[in-house]
Amino acid sequence: MNEFADVIVDISHEKVDRPFGYKVPERFRERLRPGMRVQIPFGTGNRLRTGYVIGLTSESDFPDEKMKEIADILPGEKDPEARMIALAAWMKEQYGSTMIAALKTVLPEKGKVRQKEKKEIRLVLEEAEARRRLEGYEKKHAVARARLVRAFLREPVLSGGFVRDALRIPPATVRSLAAEGVVEERTVSFYRNPVRNAGTGGEKKELSPLQKRIAADILAAWDAGDRRPSLLFGITGSGKTEVYLALIEGMIARGKQAIVLIPEIALTYQTVLRFYRHFGDRVSVMNSSLSAGEKQDQRLRAKRGELDVIIGPRSALFVPFPDPGLIIIDEEHEISYKSENAPRYHARETAIELARLCGAAVVLGSATPSLESYSRARAGEFHLFTMKERLAGGSLPRIFVEDMRRELREGNRSIFSARLAEKLEERLKAGEQSMLFINRRGYAGFVSCRSCGYVCRCPHCSVSLSEHRIKRMGYGGQQGMQARLVCHYCGYSQPMPQICPVCGSRYILGFRAGTEQIAEQLSGMLPAARILRMDADTTRTKDSYEKILSAFAGREADILVGTQMIVKGHDFPDVTLVGILAADLSLSVGNYRAGERTFQLLCQAAGRAGRGPRPGEVVIQTYQPDHYSIRYAAAQDYEGFFEEEYTYRKLLAYPPAAHLLAVQIQDKKEEDALQAAGEAAGWAKEMADEGTVIIGPAPALIEKINDIYRYGVYIKHRDYSRLTAIKNGIEKRRAALERARGTCQFDFDPLNTY
Ligand code: ADP
Ligand code: ZN
Ligand code: ZN
Repeated sequence: MNEFADVIVDISHEKVDRPFGYKVPERFRERLRPGMRVQIPFGTGNRLRTGYVIGLTSESDFPDEKMKEIADILPGEKDPEARMIALAAWMKEQYGSTMIAALKTVLPEKGKVRQKEKKEIRLVLEEAEARRRLEGYEKKHAVARARLVRAFLREPVLSGGFVRDALRIPPATVRSLAAEGVVEERTVSFYRNPVRNAGTGGEKKELSPLQKRIAADILAAWDAGDRRPSLLFGITGSGKTEVYLALIEGMIARGKQAIVLIPEIALTYQTVLRFYRHFGDRVSVMNSSLSAGEKQDQRLRAKRGELDVIIGPRSALFVPFPDPGLIIIDEEHEISYKSENAPRYHARETAIELARLCGAAVVLGSATPSLESYSRARAGEFHLFTMKERLAGGSLPRIFVEDMRRELREGNRSIFSARLAEKLEERLKAGEQSMLFINRRGYAGFVSCRSCGYVCRCPHCSVSLSEHRIKRMGYGGQQGMQARLVCHYCGYSQPMPQICPVCGSRYILGFRAGTEQIAEQLSGMLPAARILRMDADTTRTKDSYEKILSAFAGREADILVGTQMIVKGHDFPDVTLVGILAADLSLSVGNYRAGERTFQLLCQAAGRAGRGPRPGEVVIQTYQPDHYSIRYAAAQDYEGFFEEEYTYRKLLAYPPAAHLLAVQIQDKKEEDALQAAGEAAGWAKEMADEGTVIIGPAPALIEKINDIYRYGVYIKHRDYSRLTAIKNGIEKRRAALERARGTCQFDFDPLNTY
């Protein structure tokens, strides 16, 4: 074993495709691992160069005599590249991808190292003076100026692009305001330090005793060599972010750096600002809005020791800090932490591995922890800290659950329950804002009865069936479309029922209702209401997203209607009513995580109400008021939900009670896809032990995309390493499996239905 090593001499995307093969001398064979730095003779002159081992094999394509030998192993514990390559090797094994795909995930793309410059505009006036000006502008109907000053009262520094595009303030107006000494315009490096002169040094909060204790406990445990991750289970507004800030300070004092993961959608200017206020120039952001050059620049700054903190979505994990001491994952339950491309890594698990490689502490935060994290915390694998009170005041909202089956029985055919309609009108009269949230996750065709709430389910799998339109050959050879219900886990299918098998109602249909229809019905019901809509259609560009939010925050609308994107971490103190339409929609998506997702969404949405001084109310509309996800969300009872959901996962051997490997086959020819899936299932059976459960082959949720057929095999086992062994076995025979143009991919503990 380990007789040959693949070595790259340059750390970049472009170079990982063509590694060089070297012989491993006897004396290094025990010790050599992927990620290690080595000295190798290179080129015709055999000059010694530094390279990184990316893989070890016992076979090589090269003839033995011609191959050069590795000259030496170099020390590399503090070398960020070595760490990243070791991490890539782990990801490859853990999630099933090629080493090249794994390396491309952790290593930078080559980009021009030039920083983009941006304009920023800041308010020069004191707040009281600004308010006086605002009144003046409002009196004179100077709408644009008033809008700008209002925005500044929320946020002392704004980007030029935001002012121009989102606030629609013409450059001439900004210039004349600058001339009047109201604002100041400056050109700055993007994200370098947008608040350098904001004069907000006195922002630091005295931590509450609980916050202090949690921060101290986590640091003390780390100092004592305890490397267990910590879970911060705290409701929104309980002060988790302040604890993060204290922890980062503590780690910086220990000479370390910190990585802070925040879901991209929650990575708003406001969030970033809080970190800047603490750490100024020593913090930076890594996200998708940065160009390749800007990303490269942040990596360089991190590597050179110019940064202490990086904030970003999951890819921020791969910023090459010399000595990371802390990895924070905020909203750790978010599904965006799992990559959809191979390697399909989960940022939480990957962070824990990265932390193991460099001895860092891991801190996870959530108001609704994932079942994964909470079960591990209960098992003592994670430290658990609980924060149950909102620090900035504001009480928890009052929650009503409206049974939409009853509404229908009582003759109400509209989207809105009587209670929600009444409360919306009340708010409008009182001049308070409302948010309407439509849960559209389950849009993919689940079928339910509007009269009794019955949902068509698979008799074998306890997941809901999905509506498919399938081409059928008739007896005479004529073709026709037929609606069928299909299970995506076992392949079971049945005809679409014409009437509800439980109550006989004809109202058994797939659910179709979007934000557009809701906004329409709403303006029919409340003609005076100013309505804003936010969904995938109205937010195609990044600016439009900010624009809608700032318009709503600026009270330019009474009601905001949107999909789940409106429930993430935005503070609208004037919102006193949140309506959740079709709360159960996400329950019926054919996925074992549906209950968890629904519970989390409902809790988050409910958390939007009553963030200000006035108490909030929440109306949850559902066809399944008795479903445990909805009952526990209405009661804001996480523990209760956890118990019930975990029992269900244990019973059916779903993660985190067991692990699940999805083998995903795609092929242009349906027969080949089916056959390949059958073969993969067969090989899995050969490798199975008594604890292995194999399901399938079955068609994927979306059976065909772009004329490519999709099939899956699902393998369950309590022991993750049994699944990686099966994955490796299938991988070995993958060449045979990937006929013509077919592919085979792996997804461990999938979050989404394939
Ligand atoms: P979370 O991250 O849990 O949602 P935050 O850290 O954002 O909570 O805190 C919620 C609100 O409470 C913020 O407005 C924050 O400024 C305020 N806050 C947090 N900690 C304190 C504290 N120790 N004293 C006063 N206000 C605090
Ligand atoms: Zn029915
Ligand atoms: Zn089934």
